Amino acid sequence: GERAGSALEIAGLSKNFRGLKALDDVSLSVPAGQIRGIVGPNGSGKTTLFNVVSGFYKPSRGSVRVGGRTLTNASSHRLAQAGVARTFQNLRLFPAMTVRENVLVALDQTRTRSIWRYAVWQLGVWRHDRALRSSANAVLERYGLVDFADSLPGALPYGIQRRVEIARAMARSPRLLLLDEPAAGLNGDEVRQLGEIVRSIRDSGVTVVLIEHNMGLVMSLCEHVTVLAGGRVIADGTPDEVATAPQVIEAYLGD
Ligand code: ADP
Repeated sequence: GERAGSALEIAGLSKNFRGLKALDDVSLSVPAGQIRGIVGPNGSGKTTLFNVVSGFYKPSRGSVRVGGRTLTNASSHRLAQAGVARTFQNLRLFPAMTVRENVLVALDQTRTRSIWRYAVWQLGVWRHDRALRSSANAVLERYGLVDFADSLPGALPYGIQRRVEIARAMARSPRLLLLDEPAAGLNGDEVRQLGEIVRSIRDSGVTVVLIEHNMGLVMSLCEHVTVLAGGRVIADGTPDEVATAPQVIEAYLGD
């Protein structure tokens, strides 16, 4: 049956790449408003899970439900429309566009799916769209990016670039935000700022699922953690519960 208040419900999910079981019968349920951590050794299937939930891969078996709606084989566009946004382990910002333009494009993508918009935007169409510009300003302000609005992403510290990527994802007003290793490459101060940003996103009503290797951040930020190893869920519970589970310690020692 349907579990009320579940933002993401995954049941019996498998993903095979030829002989390899990248995901093997994974089930998990994320209540609305939770910050969920997904951890596990390299190659355990974390990114594959995000790729299935965001529609980049079709699962071999199992189901994906977002906000109570079954969206198992939906396209990435359809999932975005249903309120799923994600960031990538490797930043995917437009390098020749300013921070403001990167945010503007993300806002514009909520209105149209055409890939040609990128070319059109480079011609400067955004300059004439006042409603979009004011929405972009609100996003830039919310994520502390006003001072960097006219810079190219590559000229900015890595922590700011990561923040731009989160701002781009949030520009689409998602209900479920998937963050793929948001703390990778960040220094201690930047990790603390990231934690505050993720909490404020959750406080605004968005459910957050993050893949993360920084265990300090996972322990302090996540209310609940799912541990993957070899494509299977080997532990699921509070950070303290999973950190002391023998099967988790064993999985990490073998990494
Ligand atoms: P993690 O994110 O936990 O490091 P991944 O989900 O990236 O793990 O990978 C899980 C397994 O699936 C790995 O063995 C990886 O090589 C494999 N894999 C991931 N994507 C593909 C793909 N597109 N084609 C073939 N194998 C893949």
